[in-house]
Amino acid sequence: MTVRAASPESGVSPVAEPVARATRPRQAVLVEPGRLELRDFTPPHPGPGEVLLQVRCALSCGTDLKAYRRGHPMWPMPAAFGHEFSGVVVEVGPGVDNFRVGDEMMAAPTAPCGHCFYCDRGQENLCPQAMQKMVLGGYSDFILVGAHVVSCNAFHKPATLGFEEAALLEPMACVVHAQERARPEKFETVLVIGAGAFGILHVMTLKAHGVSEVVVAGRGTQRLQWAGELGADRVIDVDAAGAEAAVASLNNGYGPDLVIECTGQVAGWSAAFARVRRGGRVVFFGGCPVNTALSVDTRRMHYDNLTLLAPFHFRPRDVRKAFELLCSGKLGAGRVINARRRLSDLAEVFGMLERSAVLKCAVIP
Ligand SMILES: [Zn+2]
Ligand SMILES: [Zn+2]
Repeated sequence: MTVRAASPESGVSPVAEPVARATRPRQAVLVEPGRLELRDFTPPHPGPGEVLLQVRCALSCGTDLKAYRRGHPMWPMPAAFGHEFSGVVVEVGPGVDNFRVGDEMMAAPTAPCGHCFYCDRGQENLCPQAMQKMVLGGYSDFILVGAHVVSCNAFHKPATLGFEEAALLEPMACVVHAQERARPEKFETVLVIGAGAFGILHVMTLKAHGVSEVVVAGRGTQRLQWAGELGADRVIDVDAAGAEAAVASLNNGYGPDLVIECTGQVAGWSAAFARVRRGGRVVFFGGCPVNTALSVDTRRMHYDNLTLLAPFHFRPRDVRKAFELLCSGKLGAGRVINARRRLSDLAEVFGMLERSAVLKCAVIP
């Protein structure tokens, strides 16, 4: 399979027909927690280095649900939101030489500056720019992709990859970053806590890597069923009798080598710490609510020789690896998207997310 990377070389490929703009472009706006409006929207013309994308797919994300419920400190309302997207380039700003009109694009919503204290140390995930300049507005007919992203974390979508799966680039980059830190081995038993979309993306990535036993501990019959169908070797319902014993019996009673916590709740963090085997690693993947604390048994931490990791966000190398993984077709990651709705039905999408009735929903303008 040929994969076109974001390089000037792609400029020699034939130009696709420009996609006609919708007659009345719309953009979903979060007016206040729990209230969405679909507003008329005039797509901006891209400035230097920027690209205007016609959105083909935006994906729902747990972060969007949090913002919908209680607002987001970085997204003052009224806010255009949606940060997992893919689409077709309809206009390029001055100086853009790696994309042209008609190209199909997939991109992460952030990119680091490349020259700050953190970037110099290879920790681009902590670059202030990565958090402060986020491309938002995926729930829209069009989205303006900033120059920082176009030059760093944007890729040409191969024809073999659908727009839905291409929009998984951002969550997959987070998963790749976490697993780069955790370094799972093929012979290991990995416990994933949480059967949501992120838990399942971890399962898919671990199985694609050849990890022999991947177990999901979570709640909700439907979600656990999805986890099993999408690759978990075994699922454990944490609310069922004997759940703790089932986890303890993993690895012939030694317990899991690696635990990846994906609930973002302190109870999940505590369980991850408690259940990993002696000498094992814990990845605290899900961020907890503000002002929460984790209390750890220092004796267990030291004498059981635990390694605790709390990877946050992603670096450009993780985005590239996520891109390659998605393009390889090894994951079948698109299976985590198990509902589709029109942009005009966005309120219904959030209703489904509230009820955990969907893992990820594709929002198609
Ligand atoms: Zn996301
Ligand atoms: Zn930086």
